Amino acid sequence: MIYKTDYHTHTYYSDGKGWPEDYISRAIEIGLSEIGFSDHLTLTDEQQDWSIRLSLLDEYIDRIIKLKESVSGITVRLGLEVDYFPDKEEEINKYISGLPLDYVIGSVHYMNNVSVDLGPEYYENKDINKLFESYFKLIAQAASSRLFDFMAHIDLVRIFRYFPSANAESFYCFLARELHTSDIPFEINTNGMNKPLKDFYPDRRYLHIFREEGVPVLVNSDAHNPSRLGQYFNDAHSLLINAGFTEMVSFNNRERIIKPLNSDVCEQ
Ligand SMILES: [Zn+2]
Ligand SMILES: [Zn+2]
Repeated sequence: MIYKTDYHTHTYYSDGKGWPEDYISRAIEIGLSEIGFSDHLTLTDEQQDWSIRLSLLDEYIDRIIKLKESVSGITVRLGLEVDYFPDKEEEINKYISGLPLDYVIGSVHYMNNVSVDLGPEYYENKDINKLFESYFKLIAQAASSRLFDFMAHIDLVRIFRYFPSANAESFYCFLARELHTSDIPFEINTNGMNKPLKDFYPDRRYLHIFREEGVPVLVNSDAHNPSRLGQYFNDAHSLLINAGFTEMVSFNNRERIIKPLNSDVCEQ
């Protein structure tokens, strides 16, 4: 049986629609071995609706730590999904370095301080090849910052189905090399299925490139509602196995733990 973890989830503390306890109940119900919480921390000058309020950060952390200690039948992990801004590395480090987290997810939702995932208008009249190139460079830069334990939805710019016109493979080769050099894992994020993209991030056609470069991987739902925990995980695990991956990563106290990715067909 595959050791299933789901480390990318959002509760009422950021933009999710459920309390941590609701997610834990659902995670046990669907047979996850580990559930991790990763509410958004977005350090823009103005408070964003989707980000946890800094005034609630301690409460969030205390609540998850209490659950880690009290819940049985599943391992609970504490994380955050933190927006990467190239000019805010020090500030990000200041907020997260002292926190008792199991992992920090690095995300790029902004390019030049504009969100890339709020609407298709962002993509209109833009050179999509250049946009992909810039986005992948930002992901690579975030990975090299050493601030994060893995990178989220590494080709989020596919969300509204604007695709590069030529040689997309070279973008993925570049990114896989960069992630390998920084030794930072990536996720299969199944939530792209619920977006106009109707597919996972990253593009399944290029998963083998990440395997060839030896970039570690994990599978996450990016659930904003408990009902979406573990969504499409069987498909995602099969894709990884077919691409030649043999293991996935999990985290404890910001240390990586490797779990074999094998499916024992004979197991009852
Ligand atoms: Zn995200
Ligand atoms: Zn997320």
